Amino acid sequence: MRIDIITIFPEVILPVLQAGILKRAQARDLLTVNVHNLRDFTTDRHQTVDDYPYGGGAGMILKPEPLFAAIKKLEPESTARIIYLTPQGTPFNQSLAEAFSLESHLILICGRYKGIDERVRMKLVTDEISIGDYVLSGGEIPALALVDAIGRVLPRALGNYESAQEDSFSQGLLDCPHYTRPAEFEGMQVPDILLSGHHDNITRWQHEQSLKRTAERRPELLKNMELSAEDVAYLKNNK
Ligand code: SAM
Repeated sequence: MRIDIITIFPEVILPVLQAGILKRAQARDLLTVNVHNLRDFTTDRHQTVDDYPYGGGAGMILKPEPLFAAIKKLEPESTARIIYLTPQGTPFNQSLAEAFSLESHLILICGRYKGIDERVRMKLVTDEISIGDYVLSGGEIPALALVDAIGRVLPRALGNYESAQEDSFSQGLLDCPHYTRPAEFEGMQVPDILLSGHHDNITRWQHEQSLKRTAERRPELLKNMELSAEDVAYLKNNK
């Protein structure tokens, strides 16, 4: 899979690509991430990427010409998904991360200032994605959130000790609580069942804890799930 990121601050993005799962996914050739400086697609001496908004008002707008030039160079065949990170977009979630991970080429556009010229959105952008109902100063952190979430669900990106299948949202529920050694810490004991060695009981306990957490913290997630009769009974008895 190839991801191209267009930004005026490559230095915000590059270090994050050099650690952990993202580094490993690139080393294993599962993922290629190219970071492009929008200024490289300007034609004037000052490498101007922004200009004042028509109609006045505070803040600058990223100009259309460098963005059009960048997309034309990166995607001459018009087959990539072109994603603009914007607080006005579709809220990002695990299902979208999994859907994007099946694509072969994504181009992410990071806005800055007041955003990008509307004509880029109208003509080039195929998807608009938000990472939450708050406004950041640029699209670099949102782009990294997408790359990380997509990168870790690519087949073979995770090692033996990491499993995306058991993480929150992948099966519709929040993850269960986790413990490691020591078995007793500052008067707090690891639940006996986790020390029992009884695999089936442990699996059932973990599933019930996931149900309980989801019901307590994100009850709306349960509405979209097909729960077994056993799960329904558990939730009824553990309100
Ligand atoms: N004027 C824009 C608005 O109100 O919709 C906000 C512009 S914001 C200051 C600058 C850039 O940061 C945006 O163009 C976008 O790329 C990025 N950005 C900010 N918040 C974001 C969010 N919640 N999700 C995705 N991108 C965001």
